[in-house]
Amino acid sequence: MSGRQAVKREDPNELSRSQTGKGGANKPGDEQERRRTRVKDWRGTLLRIWKYLSVHRAKLLLVLAMTVISSTLGLLGPYLIGAAIDRLMGERGGITLTALLVLLLGSYAVQGIASWLQTYWMIDAAQRTVYAMRTDLFRHLHRLPMSFFAKRQHGELMSRLTNDIDNVSQTLNGSVIQIVSSVLAFSGMLGLMLWLSPILTVITLTIVPLMVLGMKWITSRTGRYFKEQQRNLGELNGFVEETLSGQRIVKSFSLEERVTSDFRELNERLRMSGYWAQMYSGLIPKLMNVLNNLSFAVIAGAGGLLALHDIVTVGVIVTFAEYARQFTRPLNDLANQFNTFLSAVAGAERVFDILDTAPEDRDESGTVAISEVRGEIEFENVSFGYEQGNATLRDISFRIGPGETLALVGPTGAGKTTVVQLLARFYDADAGTIRLDGRDIRGINRNSLRSHIGFVLQDTFLFKGTVRDNIRYGKPEASDAEVERAAKLANAHSFISKLPQGYDTMLGEDGGGISQGQRQLLSIARAMLADPSILILDEATSSIDTVTEISIQDALYRLMKGRTNVVIAHRLNTVRRADLILVLVDGRIAEQGTHDQLMSRQGFYYGLHQAGKQRLAN
Ligand code: ADP
Repeated sequence: MSGRQAVKREDPNELSRSQTGKGGANKPGDEQERRRTRVKDWRGTLLRIWKYLSVHRAKLLLVLAMTVISSTLGLLGPYLIGAAIDRLMGERGGITLTALLVLLLGSYAVQGIASWLQTYWMIDAAQRTVYAMRTDLFRHLHRLPMSFFAKRQHGELMSRLTNDIDNVSQTLNGSVIQIVSSVLAFSGMLGLMLWLSPILTVITLTIVPLMVLGMKWITSRTGRYFKEQQRNLGELNGFVEETLSGQRIVKSFSLEERVTSDFRELNERLRMSGYWAQMYSGLIPKLMNVLNNLSFAVIAGAGGLLALHDIVTVGVIVTFAEYARQFTRPLNDLANQFNTFLSAVAGAERVFDILDTAPEDRDESGTVAISEVRGEIEFENVSFGYEQGNATLRDISFRIGPGETLALVGPTGAGKTTVVQLLARFYDADAGTIRLDGRDIRGINRNSLRSHIGFVLQDTFLFKGTVRDNIRYGKPEASDAEVERAAKLANAHSFISKLPQGYDTMLGEDGGGISQGQRQLLSIARAMLADPSILILDEATSSIDTVTEISIQDALYRLMKGRTNVVIAHRLNTVRRADLILVLVDGRIAEQGTHDQLMSRQGFYYGLHQAGKQRLAN
């Protein structure tokens, strides 16, 4: 079933777009980047992040206190150095030079400790916050209705759980502190400078825009070339991958010369973009150096003139020079962190979007749990569409008694799986009634209903764990003896005994070294152990060796005995034994009856049969 649930995809997965293949990044990449950082509702999202964070309010307050302390002390350093110089030159009285030095050392030490504490507490709070988010998201995902998953790709959901939350975590870990301390440092510096000397402040500030502009000029250029380098690298990788995996074709058409010259061209493009990207980015520290020296020269020159006129002291000039050197850092940090911050908020918003998706309809009040199920199933004029106005099933009516077998037959897309999904209440019918033992299934709560239904599907779901745990999945409280008995009934015992650690052999998600047929035997054992009253069986279409196939058939018939079975049938044998065959075409029942009845009608089923097909559906 799960393979088919992914039929309709509304939202193309952002991540699945190839970054490495041909035509990778650039335009779509920019678009992707924009989408990645687009935030619809700032206030709402920030408030909700705060709601998670506020659990750790006390810790955050400490972080804030530490940030203020370390930023303030960071400002104090240059000021104290200036004061010490003035003291040396006898321009300032009061506090002794030794005291100033001790103060300076002390302030650096305390600043170090405070910034360590701030990081420590912030990381702790951040990790607990994303832990809570991850848990909420995971729990919520499992409460969502099937229709939710039908519309999305697994990769996209995985990226919510991993990438988006990771972005939030990164930002909380570092960026928030950075942003706060940058703002503090910047405004603190500005305040102190204005207080020390308004004139020198104005002079210093004239250089700042120059620095910012210079940085911007370079970063925009490096950004462009880096992106181009990235794209060229992607193209080159894609090309290499293509030609290597298509070696046989390259050779058989004698295209070696062609691909080599194509490669040379791509390689040349990569060389050029790499050259310019590195050239410009190499310029950054040099330009910064020049601008720093320039600002130092301006401050020293202008300051010197002012000092000559006794407007400022030499200490103030030193303080200013030091501040000017540090001035661009908070601005730079702010610019850098802002992008991370944006993408984190956007990521958080996407996580919240999922959290806001309504969970599977709560069982309507008045639904009951059922303990005993005889297994009579009746569909009365059932219609259903996955989307409004687009009916997948139309007016389906049939009835099977307890212990009987229903075979669903028909071409792909006819609606066989949908019938089964409605029976398990993964979806509810739009019209008509589905009854179990004469009771409308809408009056039965979902978990209780599903606990009486066992599934043996084509794509067997095995999780990481031992063989024993995998069989026990349907009935966690089963004893080892029960597990073994079920495995024997399912013809699985003999192959399990031959595994290196028998029932304790670890299986991976991909089944870890056991064959397709053996996986199916395991899922039969699982259903056998769970012992449901109703069995839903999706017969395998993949070819399995004859011996295993016989073994599976044998186990299946044993499993089906004494239960009501709904089989999405592919084998003639199964259909022949069924008490009722529904031939579905285009969501409608084309024919229904037993094998003999349908054969004598000489209709659709007869046609399938006459065509000599072993498999009645695909
Ligand atoms: P079958 O099992 O006979 O192959 P299905 O019941 O899987 O058929 O599908 C019946 C029709 O419903 C198909 O046209 C299929 O594309 C559509 N369909 C199946 N699942 C979904 C879904 N989750 N959302 C929208 N349409 C779906």
